[in-house]
Amino acid sequence: MGIIIEEGGIKKLKSIVDELSPYKTIVITNTTLEKLWLDKILDQISAIPIIIPDGEEFKSLETAQQIWKKLIEIGFTRKSLIIGLGGGVITDLAAFVASTFMRGTYLGLLPTTLLAQVDAAIGGKTGINFEGKNIIGTFYLPNFVLIDPETLKTLPKVEILNGFGEVVKYGILDSGVYEKLRSFREIDEELIRECVNVKLRIVEEDLRESGKRRILNLGHTVGHAIEKVSNYKIKHGLAVAIGLMASALIAEKINGFDSGKVEELLDRFGLPKRHNFEPKELLKAMKIDKKAWYGRLVFILPEDIGKVFIEEIDEKVVLAVLEAMRD
Ligand code: NAD
Ligand code: MG
Repeated sequence: MGIIIEEGGIKKLKSIVDELSPYKTIVITNTTLEKLWLDKILDQISAIPIIIPDGEEFKSLETAQQIWKKLIEIGFTRKSLIIGLGGGVITDLAAFVASTFMRGTYLGLLPTTLLAQVDAAIGGKTGINFEGKNIIGTFYLPNFVLIDPETLKTLPKVEILNGFGEVVKYGILDSGVYEKLRSFREIDEELIRECVNVKLRIVEEDLRESGKRRILNLGHTVGHAIEKVSNYKIKHGLAVAIGLMASALIAEKINGFDSGKVEELLDRFGLPKRHNFEPKELLKAMKIDKKAWYGRLVFILPEDIGKVFIEEIDEKVVLAVLEAMRD
């Protein structure tokens, strides 16, 4: 068990579930995945599907509550299994429900977006939105994560691009991923495995984000600000791409990093690297970000590919870079 990454691997679900031998099984998914991939699961195992509408707004306390009620109705126990089939919205929600119901049930994740396969389903963070994004959540490790790159075949292009924002981030954090991306042909199990391993290595050292895990926020300081100021019209992965460019340019200014190395990857995948917002607005959003260092402008910056450092940056430097990146 653990994390299985395999082309066509969804077919292995039955043997994985048999090994766990749960009392009952439910599959949490949404209306989109129901049509595309749910049958592949129900063909193999007997499970009760719980279908929620598609959308970030359903990663909510109301949805969690409806599922908890349903679990009580069907006599779900701690030795029963919750499977989350979907993108990060579903994996976060399923994991949250599994971690809270009767103090924790079995949990299996079947992430079906690139973003969820390399990021959301890895690392044990669960959550729902409440007044703000991911305000309520837990740390809870699943019994298994089954990643089948084949499920990405039905994923819309924009969602692939969204995932690539985080993939390029791993490319800056790790020279192995960087080299793989420079000669990229297609998304395969190898690329996903390398990204997952980068995240696992970092998370293993720091599950609860007291230190090292923060480097996974590379590109996210500016990225979160872009998301917020755009009223979430710009998707997370694309905002992170712009944030990666900002980090590269700041690093170039203070440390001589060659920002071309980041720009090259962003261009290769057709990711955005410019924005059209007021730099002062972005700065304001950065200072009140949940993950900010108490209003200080602390950045994760590349020293070189595969090596980052964390430093507080003068706001004049940040403003100058944001101005230079403005369309
Ligand atoms: P998402 O779950 O909303 O999925 C994006 C869209 O793709 C949805 O419409 C979904 O129905 C559709 N979809 C999913 N798989 C598909 C497939 N195979 N074929 C066709 N359509 C498919 O978005 P996401 O980007 O996967 O995840 C975003 C969420 O992940 C956010 O809520 C974020 O907070 C969370 N997240 C969590 C972590 C973590 O560590 N727990 C990390 C990153 C992101
Ligand atoms: Mg992210």
